[in-house]
Amino acid sequence: MAFCILHIALDTPLNSGFDYRWPCAPGEEPAVGQLALVNFGNREVVGLIIAVRHATEVPLDKLKDALAVRGQLAPLTAAWLALAAFAADYYQRPLGEVALPGLPKNLRTLTTVALDRALKKLAKGAPVHDGAPCGMPALNSAQQDAADAIGGAVGFTPLLLYGVTGSGKTEVYLQACAQVLAREADGQILILVPEINLTPQLEGNIRARFPGVMLATLHSSLSEGERMLHWLAAHQGQARIVLGTRLAILASLPHLKLIVVDEEHDPSYKQQEGLRYSARDLAVWRARQLGIPIVLGSATPSLETWHHAHSGRYRKLELRERAVKDAVLPRVTLLDMERDKPVDGITKQLMAALRQRLERGEQSLLFLNRRGYAPVISCEACGWISECTRCTSFMVLHKPEHRLRCHHCSLELRIPRHCPTCGNVDLQPLGRGTQRVEEGLQQLFPEARILRIDADSTRRKGSAQAAFDSVHRGEVDILIGTQMVAKGHDFKKLTLVGILNPDTALFSQDYRASERLFAQLMQVAGRAGRAARSEGGSASEVLVQTRYAAHPLYAAVVNHDYDRFATALLEERRQAALPPYMYQALLRAEARELALAIAFLEQARDCGAHEGITINDPIPMTMTRVFNVERAQLLVESASRPALQGFLRQWLASLRALKSRVKWSLEVDPLDI
Ligand code: ADP
Ligand code: ZN
Ligand code: ZN
Repeated sequence: MAFCILHIALDTPLNSGFDYRWPCAPGEEPAVGQLALVNFGNREVVGLIIAVRHATEVPLDKLKDALAVRGQLAPLTAAWLALAAFAADYYQRPLGEVALPGLPKNLRTLTTVALDRALKKLAKGAPVHDGAPCGMPALNSAQQDAADAIGGAVGFTPLLLYGVTGSGKTEVYLQACAQVLAREADGQILILVPEINLTPQLEGNIRARFPGVMLATLHSSLSEGERMLHWLAAHQGQARIVLGTRLAILASLPHLKLIVVDEEHDPSYKQQEGLRYSARDLAVWRARQLGIPIVLGSATPSLETWHHAHSGRYRKLELRERAVKDAVLPRVTLLDMERDKPVDGITKQLMAALRQRLERGEQSLLFLNRRGYAPVISCEACGWISECTRCTSFMVLHKPEHRLRCHHCSLELRIPRHCPTCGNVDLQPLGRGTQRVEEGLQQLFPEARILRIDADSTRRKGSAQAAFDSVHRGEVDILIGTQMVAKGHDFKKLTLVGILNPDTALFSQDYRASERLFAQLMQVAGRAGRAARSEGGSASEVLVQTRYAAHPLYAAVVNHDYDRFATALLEERRQAALPPYMYQALLRAEARELALAIAFLEQARDCGAHEGITINDPIPMTMTRVFNVERAQLLVESASRPALQGFLRQWLASLRALKSRVKWSLEVDPLDI
């Protein structure tokens, strides 16, 4: 019997490949990119064939046989394998840990029942290949230029679509898509959005515009059956448009011809655990590898992207005006909370503006990026405050649920009736979250229909969508919410946005805090005034309650002046040698005792000297303890990306050789440091 040797990547931190025997006649070997079932450490697991060989250093009779090859599934393409290999190499993880977890769970099971069922289903639904769009509105000339630039781009072309909120970026994407679908007989398009709540709105638009095209969505709330079907539709080239959140960047798309990254600045594109990748950065790499255009859209581009647009690496397309005729950007006014002292968190001026909207039957949105009732409760008699016993943080008061909750370790306690230290029964909530604002509003405006949207109010599956739908249907007068409501939504009847307490981010230690705050304020402000102003309707406005009205960040928000703000911020970054002028990696260590974590990082620091690389001293993380684990970090920097990459490869090998019992992980291009 003839054999070949399958070199197979498995989802383990140990290695990048393992050899198995497979009996087959010459010329009938399985292909690279196919999945195979193997026995590994007494478990049967599915791995990815990354090489097929005829010789190995291990004697043939010492090798185990692979159990099965999933012949019914077309192999993953060389381009896809190259993407996975790049991500593994760049983020310093084994290939199997990158390639396999992204596949649908049902592909990685022992049985092929689910796979066979999905294949059958897709084979029946004959693929419709008519990409003819319908109901496309006429674009304004700036939109048309942008759509033509994207749709007509040849080869690797990174484009920044820099368009103010409401400038009709979606329409530009759709018409660029129409051009690509018309030109490329079986071309596929990948559209990424940052937030799962934004998929239904866009999905509806795409389905209406391209009724003859198969659309597949990929995001974390699909059932396993759906994920399998959608993944497969993309893999087999049947789905010509794939819409998804960050995880969709690793979808198999054999005929990919265009990538769209909407709201490219959004931090949600960064995966914050396991493989800590940036879907936006991988998207750019994927476009370059395939030689196709990629469009990054935003009203407030990330400084990295802005920098590339100005250095000429990305081409900048601009939409300066709102698309709907007579819809204008809202007027932004700062309300000085020192002069106009808020009652229930709301100043007199904001209250008057809310009242006016209620009288006119228009909608208002209040934005407060803090859920719960109050961030902490305290005892005025002895100074006790509700700290989490497991984390360096506070227990948040959730009044409707009658609980104190830690947002970091999920510890839940009943609200104490009296102070645990001195027995005082008069415990007071300090500060204000969305629940407390909601309660205050109900008292101030008993006749108003008030809706709160945050992670607590939308725990049940489908409830977020139901809430957004009721806002769109006009069943809500005042919407109060966290960043969940700030992004992307096109609320037509909204004419007032109130921003309640943005000041805390002004003084954060995190150098990215001001970039993020600015983007967030522009995004939430951008929800107002998206429809044409009606006869007798209010002019749209944004009221920002602040104690620091003189802060330059607010001046930029008032003037809708992203350009100047970004340019100034970039200059600061350059002078301080921070990204995008510097490349960073962060080594994190976790242990029961902080000293152990720090000691490991000191060892790590001492085994890593290298020219052109700065290794900083270890420090405890800002939130040092989470769930009784102490955490410390060490920052590595270099002005050269290749130098940093080269260093990390060597350094990781030495770190593994330390065989420390401390749990550690490395993050390349960290967002939070
Ligand atoms: P953005 O994503 O840039 O914030 P959207 O794509 O949501 O903006 O568009 C804002 C609004 O403008 C939407 O209601 C959209 O239907 C409308 N719109 C876009 N382009 C046009 C156009 N050419 N003519 C009329 N309305 C348009
Ligand atoms: Zn007390
Ligand atoms: Zn906790």
